[in-house]
Amino acid sequence: MRITVLAGGVGGSRFVRGVREECARRWPDPSTGSGRRGQRGTAASVTVIVNTGDDLWLAGVRLMPDFDSLLYSLAGVNDTERGWGRAGETERVSAELREWGVGWPWFTLGDLDLGTHLARTAWLREGATPSQVAERLQQRWPLGVRLLPATDTEVDTYVQAADPDAPGGERELHFQEWWTRYRAALPALEFRQRNIESARPAPGVVEAIADADVVLIAPSNPVVSIGTIVSVPGIREALAETPARVVGVSPIIGGQVVRGMADACLTAIGVETDAAAVARHYGARSAGGLLDGWLVDEVDAASVAPLEEAGLVAASVPLWMRDLDTSAALAGAAIDLGAETR
Ligand code: GDP
Ligand code: CA
Repeated sequence: MRITVLAGGVGGSRFVRGVREECARRWPDPSTGSGRRGQRGTAASVTVIVNTGDDLWLAGVRLMPDFDSLLYSLAGVNDTERGWGRAGETERVSAELREWGVGWPWFTLGDLDLGTHLARTAWLREGATPSQVAERLQQRWPLGVRLLPATDTEVDTYVQAADPDAPGGERELHFQEWWTRYRAALPALEFRQRNIESARPAPGVVEAIADADVVLIAPSNPVVSIGTIVSVPGIREALAETPARVVGVSPIIGGQVVRGMADACLTAIGVETDAAAVARHYGARSAGGLLDGWLVDEVDAASVAPLEEAGLVAASVPLWMRDLDTSAALAGAAIDLGAETR
């Protein structure tokens, strides 16, 4: 079984942990038995195509927030209470950087996290590509899945936002500044990914989509996470052409985002914060869109019939990923829907 997942950071990490767990239950790998930290091996192969739109240069180092969220979470070294970064983190270097006036005072870089950024930047300086760096970072921990940045081209996202204090009433800022400093409160007018027209899928990305048995779209931010991945020229085409079924999971439950501020992004591109509206935004593959199947939560069950009329195979299941069991059950439902649409 070959499964390819498109994912962002937070919703992406929870979902991919569920996929990994479900695969270990359904297709156990008899040769690995119980691996490190009780993590069971699987005979299935899982590839995650990771959003790179949130990446940025800051304080002289390259940050890849969604990649690192997945890396730390799958390795089990993430801070589960804060929901981001490393467990047992300290912030001594960040305090020094603040004294020097380097970086963003409202954007804390943990010491352990900075270690990752320094390693990444060192390898980039030596000439490695982001996907080669990603491969090296994954060698440290047995993740049980393969993480592939969507592209090696720097496609950092900028937001054109309304700001009454700016000349002309609007200004451009890096997505991370809009998201973290302003908590997405400055109304976004447009999202722009730098260099996106000239970007290419990273090595292995098109193959992972073409050779998959099922492609899953994680319940990630539809605009800045999944939207960026499918904007890389060649990825949407690969999704259109793959013989695999493409199944998405709604990040919206009962008209609300589960975590984060994705509603501010949807509003900016004129899409309602609603599970069915996101499915229509992605579109049915039969009509030139991305999806064969779509999972909504049980509270959104009423949208299943209209979505099926619109050419999708849809189903309602519990979408809240509260723990590993609920995440695994959701991953299983997505895999099953992929089989059903065949
Ligand atoms: P980011 O890169 O950190 O913004 O994370 P993602 O793009 O991967 O995911 C953000 C989205 O995940 C948000 O829109 C949330 O609504 C969604 N999300 C987070 N937790 C859950 C969950 O338990 N269930 C579902 N269905 N969606 C979730
Ligand atoms: Ca992100």
